Amino acid sequence: MPASIVVGTQWGDEGKGKATDYLADRMDLVVRYQGGNNAGHTIIAQGHTLKLQLIPSGILYPHITSVIADGVVVDPRVLLEEMDGLEAVGVDPSKLVVSGNCHMIMPYHLEIERVTERFLGKNALGTTKRGIGPAYGDKAARIGLRIQDLFDEKIFREKLDIVLKEKNLVLTRVYGRLPLTADAIVEDYLRYAERLRPHVVDTSKLIHDALGDGENVLLEGAQGTMLDLDKGTYPFVTSSNPVTGYALASAGIGPRHVERVIGITKAYVTRVGAGPFPTEDLGLEGDRLGERGHEFGTVTGRKRRCGWFDAVILRYAARVNGLTELFVTKLDVLSGFETVKVCTAYRADGDTYEDVPPHQSLFHDAEPVYEELDGWDEDLTGVRAIDDLPKPARAYLERVADLIGVPIGVVSVGPGREQSLPAA
Ligand code: GDP
Repeated sequence: MPASIVVGTQWGDEGKGKATDYLADRMDLVVRYQGGNNAGHTIIAQGHTLKLQLIPSGILYPHITSVIADGVVVDPRVLLEEMDGLEAVGVDPSKLVVSGNCHMIMPYHLEIERVTERFLGKNALGTTKRGIGPAYGDKAARIGLRIQDLFDEKIFREKLDIVLKEKNLVLTRVYGRLPLTADAIVEDYLRYAERLRPHVVDTSKLIHDALGDGENVLLEGAQGTMLDLDKGTYPFVTSSNPVTGYALASAGIGPRHVERVIGITKAYVTRVGAGPFPTEDLGLEGDRLGERGHEFGTVTGRKRRCGWFDAVILRYAARVNGLTELFVTKLDVLSGFETVKVCTAYRADGDTYEDVPPHQSLFHDAEPVYEELDGWDEDLTGVRAIDDLPKPARAYLERVADLIGVPIGVVSVGPGREQSLPAA
């Protein structure tokens, strides 16, 4: 049963790209299962720093087939640009495959997201404005266009005409924008289609057959559990489901294939955009975490909100994803604090919560209950074995694993491949 799932346990940016890259060595297929080109993975390999938004990071390994599964929304222009970018640094993108069932991000999605975010003003969600939310919206409304539609020009035109009629009314009459023309869109998208055609396959069958042949499949999510459309802090969430249940729906396989569920867990917490964040530290310590951890968005460059490790959300993530192990990243960032804090519970409305409170108002008001542990001064980036970490750092990890009830599989002390330390 050789499928493994990598899932973010917090609000994204946990270092999933790095974790996937580390695990990819032993994999045959790496499958991206949700999101769009809003998930910036930074990978440092072969002397290059690569920023990938859509293509799974396994692409760096020549033996791996990289798969974009049904649940991802694809902006074909961005996908092709990313493939060109890989080629430019000597990485062959020919082993990338994409599901024909993926919904496409269309020019009107970008335009509509821009104008609605502007319209919402201070209530804007702070989206990445890549058209991802509107594309998922159209998917649910059953007016989306899929990659497979590109391969039947007549169907593509027909579907586009129907959708565009309504979108243009919204753009012109509600937002006072210019209408988009179908011909221009068709011309661009059919050009993309020619280049994409060799990459489009039945990914569900491919994954299923690979599992049947005993190959190792890694399913890679984007964003994080607390940004999940159903399980996150709605409405301050992403428009898809990062949780592991969706990995199966998107890849098109059943749960019996899954052996490992690896929760990527930053040693502290960050969040981009609005929404509740109980352990956010608005003082000097939060600033320091942000500076030491270079907490700026890969895609947007936005400064991330920073705070201390939150065992409450981690226990929740362990539960809703069925985590079998933790991959703790950025432990090196915690060096130099006199004490390091871990949130073990919340206080809200006079009650103590060891689990995520059942109502969003309580979660918004939740005050963290902290346990303070001894800090350490040593630079961890040169450490190559967990046993060689300073004692307080090991005590911190033990406490984290204990509070969550999930063992730690790997600890990461820097961005490089050699800075991932497996547990014995
Ligand atoms: P993702 O969005 O969850 O995939 O996060 P990324 O893979 O983009 O990782 C976020 C950033 O943290 C990247 O710049 C990584 O190189 C960096 N990073 C990952 N792990 C570590 C670590 O253990 N220590 C440090 N200092 N940086 C790390």
